[in-house]
Amino acid sequence: KCDVIIVGSGLSGLMAAKTAADHGFKTMVLSKGLGMMHLFMGGVDLLGYYPEESMEMLESVRPGLENLIETHPDHPYGKVGIEDIDNSLKAFSGLFDPKDYHYTGFPEQNTLLPTGIGSMKPSYLIPSTMIAGKNVLFEPVLLVGFREFGDFYAAYAAGNLKRLRHGDEKPSLRGVSISISDITGRDTFNPGSLMIQFEEDGFREELCKKIRNLLKGELLIGFPAVLGLKSAERVKSDLEARLGASVFELPVLPPSVPGMRLFEIFKDQLRAKRARMTMGFEVVSAIEKNGRCRGVVLDTPAGQMIHEADFFILATGRFVGGGLQAHGDRIVEPLFKIPVAQPRSKGDWFQYEFLGPEGHPINKAGIRTDSRLRPLDEEGRVLIENLFAAGSILGHHDPMWEKSSGGVDISTGYKAVRNLMQ
Ligand SMILES: Cc1cc2nc3c(=O)[nH]c(=O)nc-3n(C[C@H](O)[C@H](O)[C@H](O)COP(=O)(O)OP(=O)(O)OC[C@H]3O[C@@H](n4cnc5c(N)ncnc54)[C@H](O)[C@@H]3O)c2cc1C
Repeated sequence: KCDVIIVGSGLSGLMAAKTAADHGFKTMVLSKGLGMMHLFMGGVDLLGYYPEESMEMLESVRPGLENLIETHPDHPYGKVGIEDIDNSLKAFSGLFDPKDYHYTGFPEQNTLLPTGIGSMKPSYLIPSTMIAGKNVLFEPVLLVGFREFGDFYAAYAAGNLKRLRHGDEKPSLRGVSISISDITGRDTFNPGSLMIQFEEDGFREELCKKIRNLLKGELLIGFPAVLGLKSAERVKSDLEARLGASVFELPVLPPSVPGMRLFEIFKDQLRAKRARMTMGFEVVSAIEKNGRCRGVVLDTPAGQMIHEADFFILATGRFVGGGLQAHGDRIVEPLFKIPVAQPRSKGDWFQYEFLGPEGHPINKAGIRTDSRLRPLDEEGRVLIENLFAAGSILGHHDPMWEKSSGGVDISTGYKAVRNLMQ
């Protein structure tokens, strides 16, 4: 029997597991899949746009967060509170060795970073391999793509970024596509295979010879975000030394290498703290008695297995993760049958305009909780005394529009564990 069982291994579930393991709880993660972690672009979004209808990036995050918490107490951030949002982000940053791959940023400020299609996106905590990209609109830049890797077109990204530059002084911004089949003997790469290639010293040496011949004084060089899995910081520093320029990564199409890195770092730390992770099997039901959850039932090829614990954290995500399902015109939570706050009818799920300023009502659908993140029934009563919820399954916020996904996952994963200790 465990102290805490967490269902789900997305960002919220892993953050809850880390927090529980840090506090010495006997912790187990049960997860049928990877959720959105391998789609995650890299930066942790805390609050990019607020108020909701605002089209301007929130530069200073703190006043926006304070305002949101005051005016939207039902928002997940309202349940966590500003102090524990700070504490959770500190705990998240503590996952990393600052001399190695880590997350960085500017106190209380969002940073605009380039994406692989050449747009700029706000984020709060940023991988150390991406941070130099903040200067992409101001310095002479070379973006490097590969003919054998179809997920990133450097010239296209450079063209789009160029249009975002302001002012008369326009230092050069170019995109080049380099062939690497002569170095590698391969005709095609996906993010995973290119990531492995970048970890090889010989590959980097030959690649840098080619890039040096193309440089026209650029001091900032962008690559797709595939610069190695466990040694990304070392790969970046090595490229910088060989090229005599700052290097940054741009997020590209999934599977996301920065997401894989994050997953591996969480996994290593959880293992070191003796937390158990069982992946690949679905939790199909829960055993409840007298308003408490006694155990959950895991469906495995060897038959159904019951796992018992004192506390449970539901971190099963939304539609992609499997935490919410659309059955006909109703959205349901399939595991604990928790009522889902949702638009009145299916016709109200979406706005006509895809990128309209109001966002789509379905993005706010999710479960309601009390102030301690315990799911509520239709009458607003706590459904199961020892069940807590975290992450994107929580309703009353629109993570896509606000750009708050990672922050909500991290802070509610952290807070769910703090709450069960009370
Ligand atoms: C393309 C894309 C890019 C993104 N980029 C960013 C970004 O750059 N920054 C950012 O902050 N956010 C980003 N996000 C959002 C972010 O990835 C999500 O907010 C986050 O992953 C949601 O985490 P979660 O833990 O709530 O759920 P999920 O990641 O969906 O995880 C749910 C977990 O629950 C498991 N599960 C579900 N049901 C069961 C069951 N019955 N039994 C066992 N296991 C179960 C799933 O297998 C999974 O492991 C991005 C999202 C997408 C789609």
